[in-house]
Amino acid sequence: MITTVTLNPAIDRMYYIDSLESNDVVRCNNYNINAGGKGLNVTKVLVKLQAEVQCFGFIGGSAGNFVTKELEKLGAVNKFTKIDRETRTCLSIMDTTGKQFELVESGPQIKADEIERFILTFNDINESKTLVMSGSLPKGLEDNFYRTLISKANQKGVKVVLDTSGNPLKEGIKENPFLIKPNIEELRKLLNRDFNTEDDLLKGTLDCLKLGAQNVALSLGGDGMIFSNQDASYRVKVSKVKVVSPVGSGDSTVAGLAYGINNELGIRETLALANACGASNATMAGIGQINFKQVQDLKEKIEVSKV
Ligand code: ADP
Repeated sequence: MITTVTLNPAIDRMYYIDSLESNDVVRCNNYNINAGGKGLNVTKVLVKLQAEVQCFGFIGGSAGNFVTKELEKLGAVNKFTKIDRETRTCLSIMDTTGKQFELVESGPQIKADEIERFILTFNDINESKTLVMSGSLPKGLEDNFYRTLISKANQKGVKVVLDTSGNPLKEGIKENPFLIKPNIEELRKLLNRDFNTEDDLLKGTLDCLKLGAQNVALSLGGDGMIFSNQDASYRVKVSKVKVVSPVGSGDSTVAGLAYGINNELGIRETLALANACGASNATMAGIGQINFKQVQDLKEKIEVSKV
C-alpha cells in the first residue's frame, strides 16, 4: 500500500472554446471535469501501475463528493478528512489557437479542529511503506506542516516522497525526507541561485543532500533527470516523444518513483520507470494520465548512466 496526501484537492474543469472575448457569451460544448490536485494526479498514475493506494487530505461540499466518487471509481481507499466548506474548483480554458487561461481558486481555510482530525487519521500511514506528499499547503496550515508529517512518518519507518516548493520544501527538507523531486525552478528557489550548466545542476542536487534530503530526483522536462544520493549520481535521458501536454508529467514521475521505492525495484529500474511515466503523460492531453503498455516500451529506451 502507498499513501498519498493531497491537502488542497480540486475539481479541474477544462473548457475548450473557439475564442475568449470580453462582454461576449461564450458557448462551450467541449469540456471535461476531473478530480485534481497533485496528490490525486499521483494517485491516478499509481492505480494505472496497479498499486494499492490510500488517500489523505481535506475535502468538503459537492466538489468533495465528486472527488469521493472519482476515488471510488479508481478503487483507491478514501481517508480524506471531511470539512464543512467547499473543495476548490480550478478552471482552464483553451481556445482553438492553443492559448490557455487558468483560474485557480485558493481553496478553503483549514481550521484547528480539522487539522487535529487529520493528524489522528494520519496514524493510518502504518498501513503503507511509502508516503507521497505533493502540492502547496492550503490556508490555515503552517509552512512546517509537511515537516511535522515527515517527522511522524520517519518515526514509523515510512519512506516519504516530498514534492512541493517554496517554504514548505525549505522546511520539509530539514526533516530528512527519503526523496524530493524538484524541477529546475523549484531547485532555484530552494537554493536561491541560478544554474547555467548541467554540472551546476548536479551540484545543486548534492546541495539538497546537505540540506537533509536522502535522495534527490531533479526533473528536467524533456531532458530527463539528474538523480543523486550519498552513494552516487545518475543522469537519465528520455527518448523523444510526440508531446501533447506535459502538464502532470512531474506528478506522473513522482508516482513512478514511489512505486519503485515501495516495490524495492532498485535505483536504475525505478528511474527508468519514473521517467517513462513522465514521458507517457506528456504524450496525452489528460493530467496524470499514462498508458501502461507505452510505459513498458518507453522504459526500455531510457538511458540511466552513473556520473
Ligand atoms: P514538472 O511537471 O514537475 O515540472 P517535468 O516537466 O520536469 O516535471 O517532467 C517530469 C518528467 O517527465 C521528466 O523528468 C521527464 O522524464 C518527463 N517529461 C517531461 N516532459 C517531457 C517531454 N517533453 N518529453 C519526454 N519526457 C518528458
